[in-house]
Amino acid sequence: MSGKIIDGVAIGQEIREEIKERVATLQEKGCQPGLAVVLVGNDQASRTYVTNKQKSSVAVGMKSELIELPETISQEELLAHVERLNQDDSIHGILVQLPLPKQIDENAVIRAIDPAKDVDGFHPENVGKMIIGQRAFLSCTPYGIVKLLERTGTDISGKHAVIVGRSNIVGKPMGQLLLQRDATVTYCHSRTKDLTAFTKQADILIVAIGQAKFITGDQIKEGAIVIDVGMNRDENGKLCGDVDFASAKEVASAITPVPGGVGPMTITMLLKNTLHSAEKASKEGRCGQ
Ligand code: NDP
Repeated sequence: MSGKIIDGVAIGQEIREEIKERVATLQEKGCQPGLAVVLVGNDQASRTYVTNKQKSSVAVGMKSELIELPETISQEELLAHVERLNQDDSIHGILVQLPLPKQIDENAVIRAIDPAKDVDGFHPENVGKMIIGQRAFLSCTPYGIVKLLERTGTDISGKHAVIVGRSNIVGKPMGQLLLQRDATVTYCHSRTKDLTAFTKQADILIVAIGQAKFITGDQIKEGAIVIDVGMNRDENGKLCGDVDFASAKEVASAITPVPGGVGPMTITMLLKNTLHSAEKASKEGRCGQ
């Protein structure tokens, strides 16, 4: 079997077109969605992510504000920037690019973001609401994966979903979103004994561990759907996932490539969250320009 490639670029583009139309409708009502991105320090990878997010938001018609701050900034100063953005009615989404320098308490910064503008879905209020099934901003990567599964016609209900990795931004929320869609969910992590015994049972296998080509075809059940979240460099410096694509695609019925799978969906869902926030603000008559 050679698995179908799940094209995150094409699906992401389809959703971005829908977002663009809704942004245009909002603009006709005098409301332009605004996304503020806070970048602290000079980390090159962070800068690339931020640039991509900015370009993508402008491409769908949103206003984009970049707040660049020095590596040496104090927590107090950073919180003051977040507070200013919380109060700014022309900003509907606030994203503080992680990781932050060591003098800053990341959790305190996340908690300082107005939950109504927390388009990354990291604020404990949004995480809590998500878990009990209330309307909330969903963490962009797992939200994007749900959309990939839905748009490729995957019936999630009753399937055994195995998640490898239990981070707060990918693994944990991923399992919750699939549980809400009636999957049976198993979490695996670095202390899991006999990982293959679990991965082999997965109808839907989601891998988010940050280890290049870690999961190989012989660890995957014939016909499984494989979602590879990893973004790593291989021995030749080439971008690759946490799954060994070549061997996995021989057993999977469908698989996401890296690049071109989950990555584009993450940014797309950030735009979708920002749009939702602006639509709500517009309805409530507080969409400043
Ligand atoms: P973290 O480092 O926060 O978490 C990694 C998780 O993987 C942990 O739960 C860890 O277990 C588990 N793990 C590590 N090694 C193993 C192992 N050998 N066997 C089983 N489990 C293991 O990573 P993130 O969740 O933030 O990111 C994971 C990957 O996804 C990275 O490559 C990252 O770059 C990528 N990523 C991609 C995104 C995209 O848009 N495409 C977005 C976000 C992340 P334990 O808890 O026991 O330590």
